[in-house]
Amino acid sequence: MIVMDQGTCMVDVAKFFMDFCREESCGKCVPCRVGTTQMHGLLDRITRGLASREDLAELEDLAGMVRETSLCGLGQGAPNPVFSTLRYFRDEYLAHIDDRVCPAGVCKIEPAEAVAPVAEASR
Ligand code: SF4
Repeated sequence: MIVMDQGTCMVDVAKFFMDFCREESCGKCVPCRVGTTQMHGLLDRITRGLASREDLAELEDLAGMVRETSLCGLGQGAPNPVFSTLRYFRDEYLAHIDDRVCPAGVCKIEPAEAVAPVAEASR
């Protein structure tokens, strides 16, 4: 049993479990091997205040694909923390994305001036 309170960031929790699944993936099938890494990357972007609503939609699509197409229970279950936290704590995800705030004060959000649009950053 894991007990959490208002001082726990649920996006950070999802990232923690995805990091575990990424590390434990045996690599046999692509959905799990690549999908867990991609989902971890998206969760990391959210916790750093760098994600957009499109990233969130991509995370949800990817989580569904990984669940449906992974060969064993590890990959099939890897997206569960994403689904659970999105179901019950979607507002925390949106606070990171829209307001660039971690309600629990856990995540280190990048300063706004450090976040350049992709087009500008590539010049
Ligand atoms: S789902 Fe299972 S078989 Fe596929 S890479 Fe993950 S751990 Fe390996």
